[in-house]
Amino acid sequence: MGIVGISGDITARKLAEQDREKLMQTLALKNKELESILYVTSHDLRAPLVNIQGFSSELSRSCDLIHSALKDKIKAADMSEEVHTAFNKDVPEALGFILTSARKMDSLLSGLLRLSRLGQAAVDIERLDMNAMLTDVTKNMEYQVKEAGATVDLESLPACLGDSSQINQIFSNILDNALKYLDESRPGMIHIYAKIENGQNIYCVEDNGVGIAPEHQNKIFEIFHRLEPGRKSGEGLGLTIVRRILDRHNGKIWVESELGKGSKFFVSLPSA
Ligand code: ADP
Repeated sequence: MGIVGISGDITARKLAEQDREKLMQTLALKNKELESILYVTSHDLRAPLVNIQGFSSELSRSCDLIHSALKDKIKAADMSEEVHTAFNKDVPEALGFILTSARKMDSLLSGLLRLSRLGQAAVDIERLDMNAMLTDVTKNMEYQVKEAGATVDLESLPACLGDSSQINQIFSNILDNALKYLDESRPGMIHIYAKIENGQNIYCVEDNGVGIAPEHQNKIFEIFHRLEPGRKSGEGLGLTIVRRILDRHNGKIWVESELGKGSKFFVSLPSA
């Protein structure tokens, strides 16, 4: 009896230690992630802020010039060309840059807010009919599909376990990207299919778009990371959100891609 009792104690202690170890690892990972979010955010928010500061100074100089011309009519005649340029070019240009930068900051901050809300949202796990969900996601994007002149080929998909609105968000983001990063020189083709491996469903969204170079394939999941800023609208948050949702579902995302040929985004989720 005594021996059984002691070995039971040891097993319980070992399990508790393993749990503690796991928790510490998760905590360390979260800390690292938080640090990188803090770094990237402050870095990305700084660029538009520097723009706002610079163009505000320019605006202030133009205002001084116009002000001094208005005060002194003789001087104004002399400065008419400068005043004209300030009024018609410098001021509107500076205001335009300030507004664009403020909008950029606003979009970065609302992206961060969305990310933080996601961390607090409850995960309501249920059996998901993925055929119905992907049909719905594709229908919601019908306009973008038409605009891109693309075809979406949807195979029969196995059901999985997950939170309906969060899983919907995952596939909306991936499909949105597949459409956004198509190659204009050939008709866009998107193929959605799945297979089951070791109790996990592996869904794949394959496109024949611009593709991603090997050195960028891990980076695209980082917060605010965009390969060609300005080329297409977006804030570099879509795949970060996808990864964050999958972390909370015991799921994974990875990519296989060839530059100039296309990409395959794989998502694994527990089978229903
Ligand atoms: P966003 O699309 O808003 O820039 P994402 O986090 O969704 O942000 O994607 C990050 C980057 O990954 C994109 O800027 C793009 O360069 C690249 N990317 C994502 N999906 C694809 C795709 N299907 N084909 C090519 N590049 C992609």
